[in-house]
Amino acid sequence: MNEYDSNRILDLTKKINYTPTKTLSEANCYILNTCHIREKATDKVYHDIGRIKKEFRNKIKPIVIVTGCVAQAEGDILLKKEKYIDAVIGPQSYHQIHDTILKLEKKKPQLNFTEFDVIEKFDKLNSFKNSDNKISSFLTIQEGCDKFCKFCVVPYTRGPEYSRSLKEILLEANQLVNNGAKEITLLGQNVNAYNFESKKLSDIILEISKIKNLKRIRYTTSHPSDFSKDLIDAHKNCEKLMPLVHLPVQSGSNKVLRAMNRKHTIEEYLKIVEKLIEFRPNIKFSSDFIIGYPTETYEDFQQTLKLMENLKFINSYSFIFSARPGTPAYNLKMISEKEAKERLIEFQTLADKIKINYRKELINKNTKVLFENKVKNESKYFGRDEYFNSVIVESKNNLIGKIKDIKILTVNQNTLFGEIVSNLNQTNYAA
Ligand code: SAM
Ligand code: SF4
Repeated sequence: MNEYDSNRILDLTKKINYTPTKTLSEANCYILNTCHIREKATDKVYHDIGRIKKEFRNKIKPIVIVTGCVAQAEGDILLKKEKYIDAVIGPQSYHQIHDTILKLEKKKPQLNFTEFDVIEKFDKLNSFKNSDNKISSFLTIQEGCDKFCKFCVVPYTRGPEYSRSLKEILLEANQLVNNGAKEITLLGQNVNAYNFESKKLSDIILEISKIKNLKRIRYTTSHPSDFSKDLIDAHKNCEKLMPLVHLPVQSGSNKVLRAMNRKHTIEEYLKIVEKLIEFRPNIKFSSDFIIGYPTETYEDFQQTLKLMENLKFINSYSFIFSARPGTPAYNLKMISEKEAKERLIEFQTLADKIKINYRKELINKNTKVLFENKVKNESKYFGRDEYFNSVIVESKNNLIGKIKDIKILTVNQNTLFGEIVSNLNQTNYAA
């Protein structure tokens, strides 16, 4: 979502003739768009400002603005501690960024915009065309969260759940497709909690799938407790909806899920997976995991390993629990750092093994790849298959924006390498 927000910030700043520079030293305005989900984000802001200060020693000070969730959560402290920062702007206030820059050009004192006016934000953004011209583009349809998992800052930094109207979403989706997008990823902190005048995520998927030149649809991130029947049906009925579901589970232990206030059990999670497989047998899953949550015992952790073994997620994002100030889990007794690190290594070793085995099975199979860009200085093209795997092939012809059948020849942990399949030989698909 920060990538989407950064692109929209560019759309807004273009209005006042600010454009991105190629090198750090060329800029006269810096916007640091930040994430607060795990610790060290604030340290990174100070570090980056240090780099800018060094670059501009003995030169005219540039405008420095911190946006995003660090600005929301720690804006006052940032402004107090670092006088080099001219403004902090939270994620629901960035529609004011161009006006803020104009004010700062006139040397106004430090400014703080951290209201939660998400309606005003999207009203304002709607009047600025989304100029993103990537083959695969993001579209925010929902923001914020009412779930209040005990470890998470999102309900405090992004605010309560908010859904944009179907009309706004269709307008922006059409803009993106007219700019050249062939794939749209619908975004939300809880994208499947989308609800606008009784329209659900499945309605959005079905509506945008009618856009002729749009070939692929994805959505992220969904929450297990909002995974309703209509969304499962959309996977059955909508060919354009890709067969990969990112469904964070966090832990394999019901006891830990309860302690986290996750609002779903492992049994409920497995039921969703089963239903999806029943309706779309080629579907695959990826997930998020928090390792070493306070109260997690080694037995609890083993249940997480067991779940990983059982479901064989083709991709997973795993992090040690990070205590975030202001969240209910902040003051809980942590498990030892050594133990948490050992568990993370054990988990990631298993996750990597599953991933590489899955990738090896793809060798000599065909997969459909949407090509996004050319590899710099080489006659190679980068794209993604239906399961979001990165694929590279050699080609003398321009493949950007095209979907091609690719036979996979070799793989590594990050990328699949293949060749274009001639039209005569298109069987043996990866699933
Ligand atoms: N809303 C999605 C869900 O709950 O299913 C997840 C969105 S959250 C912004 C992205 C991921 O960050 C979470 O799934 C979780 O694994 C991770 N995360 C959030 N807070 C964390 C924390 N305090 N420590 C470690 N990981 C955290
Ligand atoms: Fe954070 Fe996701 Fe839980 Fe909301 S549902 S509080 S975004 S982890």
